[in-house]
Amino acid sequence: MTQQLNGKYISLIWSKGMHKRKYLIVGNWKMNGTLESLNEIVKIDEASAQLDSDLVLCVPNTIIYEASKKITNTKLLIGAQNCHQEENGAFTGDISATMLKNVGAKMIIVGHSERRLECAETSNLVEKKASASIRMGLPAIICIGETEEQKIKGETETVVCSQLEDSMPDASNDLNTIIAYEPVWAIGTGKVPTLEDISHVHRRIRNVLKEEKGKDISQKMRILYGGSVKPENAKEIFSLEHVDGALVGGASLKADDFINIAKQA
Ligand code: PEP
Repeated sequence: MTQQLNGKYISLIWSKGMHKRKYLIVGNWKMNGTLESLNEIVKIDEASAQLDSDLVLCVPNTIIYEASKKITNTKLLIGAQNCHQEENGAFTGDISATMLKNVGAKMIIVGHSERRLECAETSNLVEKKASASIRMGLPAIICIGETEEQKIKGETETVVCSQLEDSMPDASNDLNTIIAYEPVWAIGTGKVPTLEDISHVHRRIRNVLKEEKGKDISQKMRILYGGSVKPENAKEIFSLEHVDGALVGGASLKADDFINIAKQA
């Protein structure tokens, strides 16, 4: 089955009567990258033609327009890392989903832990931002994940499930929403949960999706893992049943590393 999304085709592969979700690898450049970094994007774009998975690079707003003009392959999309929940108005310094779409963004990350923690974004606000992105036809990548303290206290499942329930808009479905499970303590630290732990949390997320959205949507919606994904550990993480790709920070800044991660999918 092939579906059209933002003028590009996302294919949903079925096998043995089971839904096999297509891998999605998302790079998050955070506050890194200038116009000089566009050559890395060109390299990724060229390599993407040989890859089976969908690729998205969420770059700083200042280079979305130029980056979008550089890409030629249908496999790579350019995305943004945040948006304001309103379409326009008196919000000095903010950028709306409408504006991001206008310069070429095709997806938006919302609720990244750096924004939840440093900008005090609540799940309620994240839900509004995800809704704004979806309304514009840009799929939202909704990030959820526990802090180290919450993990130590044994609160991982409770935190992750409540963030998911409160951050996901009613309008969310498998085509307009992607969930990214990112343990906060694993982001940029080189620490990664055990495969059992990743597997357990992803299965739990899939169950919540089933309760919230029904069996069909829950089986098709992609759940990414994020937190110190590198070319060396990507393969074993991607082999887990409910892991449908990765949200990659540091390792997405170098085209070779990002491509090597995508190749493992
Ligand atoms: C991230 O920024 O979402 C992330 C997962 O970063 P890193 O891959 O560097 O841990």
